Amino acid sequence: METRCSICGHDQFGQRKVLWDALVNEWQLSPREREYVDRQQGMHCLSCGANLRGMALALAVQDAIGKDAPIAQLVKDPAVAALRVLDMNVTSISSSFRGLPNYVDARYPDVDMHSLPYPDGTFDIVVHSDTLEHVPNFVHALGECRRVLKPTGSLCYTVPIIVDRLTRSRAGLPPSYHGKAEGLRDDYLVVTEFGADAWRYPFEAGFGSVRFHTLRFPDAIAITASQSGVGIAGSSSGRAA
Ligand SMILES: [Zn+2]
Repeated sequence: METRCSICGHDQFGQRKVLWDALVNEWQLSPREREYVDRQQGMHCLSCGANLRGMALALAVQDAIGKDAPIAQLVKDPAVAALRVLDMNVTSISSSFRGLPNYVDARYPDVDMHSLPYPDGTFDIVVHSDTLEHVPNFVHALGECRRVLKPTGSLCYTVPIIVDRLTRSRAGLPPSYHGKAEGLRDDYLVVTEFGADAWRYPFEAGFGSVRFHTLRFPDAIAITASQSGVGIAGSSSGRAA
């Protein structure tokens, strides 16, 4: 991959197999789709361990901040270090933000994304990664993320997106779980399988602009949804895709 890790800046990558046959069958993935979802979850930076999904998420966070540099470097900027960040699960960017004064670690499912325990307009950035597909009313959850953002704030997130089909609910289908093949928990029950229309849901939740990012299409896609078209830096950011 001709790129650098968007978290630590290194350029050496490895690959793990992540998907298992039962999940592939439930999800009805073609061999090509299985390959790209495996890269999304299993291709990883040999230096910091971030997977491709985490690196794509970092691009979304760079967009929200309005600066194009590895996250580990960005957080050394006092203005970035002062941002109010709500992190909804452990992601590859968490280690860069953890310990900063205004960082809030609120892990799903301990915190209910349908009813976030924060006042309106609290955060500059809200982050979640491969979580929304497990949340029953995901448009409402996106609206909650929007509610707790400042007017200049952005939500940065990933969901697994199968680009050649439309979003479908798994209601009425056999249960399907993410996580690991063993030790499944109900928290990781898949409620929604996202597809090519994933762009519409942040708009339905009231966001004013939605931008998509990838390091390798269609392997891993991340989304920056902003309250308005204007980001933290005060001008429309240039990473629109
Ligand atoms: Zn890295």
